[in-house]
Amino acid sequence: MPTNSIPLPTAPPMPDYKAMPKILCGRGGSVQALYIHIPFCTCKCDYCDFYSLAGHADQYGRYLDALERQMRLETEVFGPIAPETVFIGGGTPTLLPPDDLQRLMAAIHQFCPQTRLTEFTVESNPNTFDTARAAILADAGVNRISFGAQSFQPAELNALQRDHDPHSVGRAMQIARAAGINNLNIDLIYAIPGQTLGSLDENLDAALALAPEHLSCYGLMYEPNTPMTARLRRGQIDPVSEELELQMMELVSRRLRSAGFDRYEISNWAKPGRACRHNLHYWNAGDHLAWGVSASGHHSGVRWKYVSSLHRYCDALESGRLPMVELEQLSPARRQAEAAVLQLRLAGGIDPRAFQEQPGAANADKFSEVIQKYRLSGLLTSRPGGAIALTDAGVAVSDTIFGDVFAALDGD
Ligand code: SF4
Repeated sequence: MPTNSIPLPTAPPMPDYKAMPKILCGRGGSVQALYIHIPFCTCKCDYCDFYSLAGHADQYGRYLDALERQMRLETEVFGPIAPETVFIGGGTPTLLPPDDLQRLMAAIHQFCPQTRLTEFTVESNPNTFDTARAAILADAGVNRISFGAQSFQPAELNALQRDHDPHSVGRAMQIARAAGINNLNIDLIYAIPGQTLGSLDENLDAALALAPEHLSCYGLMYEPNTPMTARLRRGQIDPVSEELELQMMELVSRRLRSAGFDRYEISNWAKPGRACRHNLHYWNAGDHLAWGVSASGHHSGVRWKYVSSLHRYCDALESGRLPMVELEQLSPARRQAEAAVLQLRLAGGIDPRAFQEQPGAANADKFSEVIQKYRLSGLLTSRPGGAIALTDAGVAVSDTIFGDVFAALDGD
């Protein structure tokens, strides 16, 4: 053995799944939502900060083995689960070959009986969606597909380093509808470098022409540690100005409202009755389990996260451990503050009395002051029944409002 070898740093040990607090044991019956993460993509988009990996096709089988082990271990801890919603995201779940997709669906059915299920969503990139995959998903009870379109302009797709062509979105939606899946979302991004109000308008025309039931429209975020943010720092990207981004947000609102969509959350628009029930569970701070690498769950004020490394995730499960890397019991005040900020994202808003009267609110007077301040300045408004919600002007500065509401309730 060479004497000058330098030991490799070892990863910190992960807690055993038995470390999960007793409060969670046997609580599976109250799980409302289940998220499953499939991390594989054809390529890595420049702006993406999700845990996703380009290539790695040789790891699909190992990952599905590990996922099934997690399903078995977690249902041992929680007891039987029967969520109201399941959401398979990623990554690109429909990149899995049909046989693997079929295997995933069978495992979900084995460990997650669909007795209470009302919504089963799968995320897809349009260039990975075909009739074979659509038939497998429809047979398994999938009733909603979320397609990552982002833009219909080749130059904008290129700026984001997306690898699909604009026509693939319409093709994929046609295939989904032919298979009987008729609740379809299109994701769009605005404030893409080089985008103008005119090109965004054309993107909205193209998306609306496909008659989706739901649209998610997000302003481009420059997340830390992405290639796009690195290029921005090097001065190689000319970002859209704040003023133009605001005009784009207003254009999205105008166009989608006049097309019959309701903004039920800051960035999410739906035809009547088509709001995403799974994401509503999140925004209402509901209890959810999460399976897969980098996924995080929440139940009864306990939050946990699984490791963001494909190999560490699989290694841990192969040796019979759940690969948890974070486990946190939220204080009543923190739980309440997080719930308030999440619910304020919704058009229905929050009932301030529920937050003022519950034990744990750090400072009910300060909370009332914050609500009153933003109400007087027209950024919050009262809904019939007493709920408080963002106005259109409030949506544009929502991060500031959320920060103040959080500080008033949490007070840590
Ligand atoms: S397809 Fe989605 S998950 Fe995959 S790299 Fe692009 S943005 Fe990330």
